[in-house]
Amino acid sequence: MTLLEKLIAAGVTENYLPPHCYSQRDIEPFKLAVIHGMSIKNIYPDDPYDPDLIRQFWIDFNRPLSEREVFTSLDIPPERRYGSAHIMIQRDGSAELNVPLDKQAWHAGKSEWHGMENLNQCSLGIECVGSSDDPYEYRQYVALAKITEIFMGHEGLDLSHIPGHFQVSPGRKIDPWDTFDWKLFYSTMGIG
Ligand SMILES: [Zn+2]
Repeated sequence: MTLLEKLIAAGVTENYLPPHCYSQRDIEPFKLAVIHGMSIKNIYPDDPYDPDLIRQFWIDFNRPLSEREVFTSLDIPPERRYGSAHIMIQRDGSAELNVPLDKQAWHAGKSEWHGMENLNQCSLGIECVGSSDDPYEYRQYVALAKITEIFMGHEGLDLSHIPGHFQVSPGRKIDPWDTFDWKLFYSTMGIG
């Protein structure tokens, strides 16, 4: 089975963003998966984790202000941005593919890890919907553990290849913040 087939068999659904939201460059063989946290709390504080709004956020984020449909506030700089990740894990523990696994997502940005740079070329990006204010949901850890176990098994990698964004972009990024419980994530392995 391919990695895609294994993830779908585990319940991950395909809900790809339009192509302007990710690079058209082919991904290189995976060397790591980067764990992120994201929400739209800064823009929609009353509904920071809404899946439909978050999807629309990515669609608008990757467009200039003049082409945005919903996120037209200047909380997002007006020029076209670049952001996306392969997999999105929602608060209810459901997981969806937002970027095809054979394309590069724009999740790591300027990044470095074990001497490698530009990690978007060779990394799987996994976003967990959350923030620096709220603990992540247990069902998100279960989903993340299941996905990373499949990924590691398929690619022949171990847990040392599953850093957080703060580890590959130190000084620039701090997600998935200290609300992410790494011990709980590790302890969830094997029970998903
Ligand atoms: Zn991040």
